[in-house]
Amino acid sequence: MTSSAITKAPPPMSLLAELTHRCPLQCPYCSNPLRLDPRAGELDTATWMRVLDEAAAMGVLQVHFSGGEPMARPDLADLVRHAVSLGLYTNLITSGVLLNRDSLKMLSDAGLDHIQLSFQDADAQEGERIGGMAGAQAKKLEAARLIVEDGLPLTLNFVIHRQNAERVPAMLDLAEQLGARRVEIAHTQYYGWGLLNRDALLPDRAQLEATEQAVAAARTRFGNRLAIDFVTPDYYAERPKPCMGGWGQRFLNISPSGKVLPCHAAESIPGLTFPSVAEESLEAIWQDSPLFNLYRGTDWMPQPCQSCAFKEDDWGGCRCQALALAGQADATDPVCHRAPAHDRIEQAIAERPETPPAFRYRRYSNTI
Ligand code: SF4
Ligand code: SF4
Repeated sequence: MTSSAITKAPPPMSLLAELTHRCPLQCPYCSNPLRLDPRAGELDTATWMRVLDEAAAMGVLQVHFSGGEPMARPDLADLVRHAVSLGLYTNLITSGVLLNRDSLKMLSDAGLDHIQLSFQDADAQEGERIGGMAGAQAKKLEAARLIVEDGLPLTLNFVIHRQNAERVPAMLDLAEQLGARRVEIAHTQYYGWGLLNRDALLPDRAQLEATEQAVAAARTRFGNRLAIDFVTPDYYAERPKPCMGGWGQRFLNISPSGKVLPCHAAESIPGLTFPSVAEESLEAIWQDSPLFNLYRGTDWMPQPCQSCAFKEDDWGGCRCQALALAGQADATDPVCHRAPAHDRIEQAIAERPETPPAFRYRRYSNTI
């Protein structure tokens, strides 16, 4: 445990509110846990309202309404209106397939600030195969059109992998044509469902380089008309990403059943107790729970992180990736070239099959 358990930790900047794990799509890289929360266990509207009150009181600035598909919740517009009334910046992270003129108007009237719309591909047939939902692309295109017509700022999100990387130029063109202000070209992260499907998703280095070149060319072509965020795949990086900006430092994640997590994948770490908003206040959980203090700061770090100049840049990487690949959540993230378990990354790249295996789709019947 760090000294931050005694000194008050600064408040989180963002709250990710996973309203539900239900979703009409079945993306094989979904960031939801392998064990999906059932509808019957979801928090009710009154509890989410109270959670928003507590978040605003403790200094949270932004709320990201996410899922699953948050538009599956009939109380979404009420929750947005409440968050706006508390002065919180509100972002909706959606697949767009449940959005229509009426539901958009309710959200817009509630004061929603921004929408992040996900696409599985620029190609309709491939996108629908990857997302496991026939007819999804036309609904997404219509959703984008309605959002731009309404005047709400739109960000498109594309998750990139070996089966769609060649169409990154078409994705960037699509974002510009649809009138998005920003687009995320984000290579898959390999936790949870992504790890389960790693051989079907992991690109080779040539594919990664081609996506980097496509992004650089589009930045020149589109200039200020379209902001482009590019997320590289961990497996080809020198150092890990600062997962969630550091454990217990900037983000709170609340699962559909009310568990409060330092990141959306933290439930994959065995032996931890996850506090719930049904039993404790958000402030008490953030400041005092053993979970949030476990990997907060740098005192917990092993070598080589402990004596590394980058330890307050990347915070030793991702605890869930360390567990999945090195077998210990408190190990240095194996992505790091200095990590004792870095060979696991090299091995995964070396053993990547020539032909991608079939996807294991994210659906309740595949829940582990
Ligand atoms: S990644 Fe796909 S399956 Fe997961 S919540 Fe988003 S749209 Fe649904
Ligand atoms: S040794 Fe640890 S702190 Fe240093 S770069 Fe690697 S993961 Fe980051």
